[in-house]
Amino acid sequence: MYADGDIKNQTQAIVIGGSIAGLLAAQTLSRYFHQVIIIERDRLPNQAESRHGVPQSQHLHAFLKRGQNILEEIFPGFKAELTAAGAPLVDVTKDFQWFGWRGLHPQFSSDFSIHLCSRNLVEHLIRRRVEANPQVKFVRGMVTGFLADSQENITGVKWRVIPDTEKQTSNETEQTANLVVDASGRNSQTPKWLTAMGYVPPKETKINPFLAYATRWYEYKESLYPGVKGAMTLSQAPDKKRSAVWLVVEGNRLVITLAGIAKDYPPTDEAGFLEFAKSLRSQQVAPAGVYRYLDELITDAKPISPIYGYRNTESCRRHYEKLTKFPDGLIVMGDAFCCFNPVYGQGMTVAALEAVTLDQCLQKYVSKGVNSQLLRGFSRTFQRKLSKTVDVAWMMATGEDFRWQSTEGGKQNFIERIMQYYTDQILLTGAENPEMHQLFIEVFHLVKPPTAFFHPHVVLTVAKHWLRDVFAHKSQPSPESYPSFE
Ligand SMILES: Cc1cc2nc3c(=O)[nH]c(=O)nc-3n(C[C@H](O)[C@H](O)[C@H](O)COP(=O)(O)OP(=O)(O)OC[C@H]3O[C@@H](n4cnc5c(N)ncnc54)[C@H](O)[C@@H]3O)c2cc1C
Repeated sequence: MYADGDIKNQTQAIVIGGSIAGLLAAQTLSRYFHQVIIIERDRLPNQAESRHGVPQSQHLHAFLKRGQNILEEIFPGFKAELTAAGAPLVDVTKDFQWFGWRGLHPQFSSDFSIHLCSRNLVEHLIRRRVEANPQVKFVRGMVTGFLADSQENITGVKWRVIPDTEKQTSNETEQTANLVVDASGRNSQTPKWLTAMGYVPPKETKINPFLAYATRWYEYKESLYPGVKGAMTLSQAPDKKRSAVWLVVEGNRLVITLAGIAKDYPPTDEAGFLEFAKSLRSQQVAPAGVYRYLDELITDAKPISPIYGYRNTESCRRHYEKLTKFPDGLIVMGDAFCCFNPVYGQGMTVAALEAVTLDQCLQKYVSKGVNSQLLRGFSRTFQRKLSKTVDVAWMMATGEDFRWQSTEGGKQNFIERIMQYYTDQILLTGAENPEMHQLFIEVFHLVKPPTAFFHPHVVLTVAKHWLRDVFAHKSQPSPESYPSFE
């Protein structure tokens, strides 16, 4: 996938933000540009550590299989580095317990394996590879706006060096580039900076299901829960607003995240955290002896962190692809372009998919013989392609959010509601059928497209299961789960 591009001397790209999307963009750009400068406001640690600019790193991050596969392609040996850093390699269908709407899904051996790790480790390993790339330079600074030429195309950034001590002062300086990439995360200032230049800012679609996280880290011992390396308990509209995920990650640590949707926010004090976990017992249904309640794990494990809370979780898509006037010389990627309700664990994987799209688009421009110093029209073409790249993840994440009546920001159309109903039937079938459970997981991990749900064999299996349910009068997801049916 990553053939070497046409690296032209004297071309330069700037990336705003040295987090996961920015690092992957920089690595890709280095195939086409003489030099890539990453401007990051944080002092970047030498270890896998949290930092101020990415507060979400204190929370559990699921790293989907598709994302892990792409990183292995970009950085051969990446998975071996995860293993060397102590990230457990698990069989998702065997070592991970999935508590769905009808209790524990089947556990069985398969070849569907992934590494469990912290976000800090993923970022650290990527950064280490990018730091070793001689064409990429890191500078510490705060970008404050864009530079533009007389045609109002972007020609660089204004930025301020961040001094090492508070006593030092720094003036705003300028850095020119042929291409500027905004990878500055959810709170990207590009809409504001474009407005200041006289451009119309992109329309935003914001879907807010009012979800919050509470997360705590613990010491992990195998005896806590022999043979199990993680579990997920699902919420279910309209009344089961609570969910939880826990994973064993590198450094013999156990990370537990409690989530509450529709404003049922999990507390961040010890007693409240435990009570919230206890309230999930009714959703952890399984034959006795094959599972432990989450609150039992919390009571038995030794905490090694405070309880962290997080509420800024809405999905937000900025429609740069729809702007009729968009400057050359600028592209927007990662969470700055599209961020998701985090419960579906998609952000890092989507950042990896976006890096692949960037590579494909640049390859096309170079092979067409377009002078990469000018890159005329590239920005608009790229933003349109990028919009397609995020479509599936967006549909999956927001589709789930729309189950909740209190979700703000839009409604599903009729086709989407039918799709939702059908997807629910796959989930229900998967509670008893290992093949359907694995298929659901493969789509969830973005290794198969949702169209895999419409293979005739799948449709037939699901239809049979649905009919059996109907004749057995088994409860179906309540119609209230589909608010817009009313
Ligand atoms: C609570 C929570 C849980 C999540 N869970 C998951 C999960 O389970 N799985 C998953 O894949 N994803 C998850 N995500 C999403 C994931 O964290 C992000 O998608 C991922 O970090 C990629 O984001 P990014 O690189 O685009 O932006 P960010 O990680 O937000 O980084 C932006 C960077 O830009 C820098 N910056 C900002 N402004 C400036 C400026 N003006 N000048 C210089 N530097 C600047 C910041 O310091 C930061 O380093 C979660 C997100 C949240 C909020």
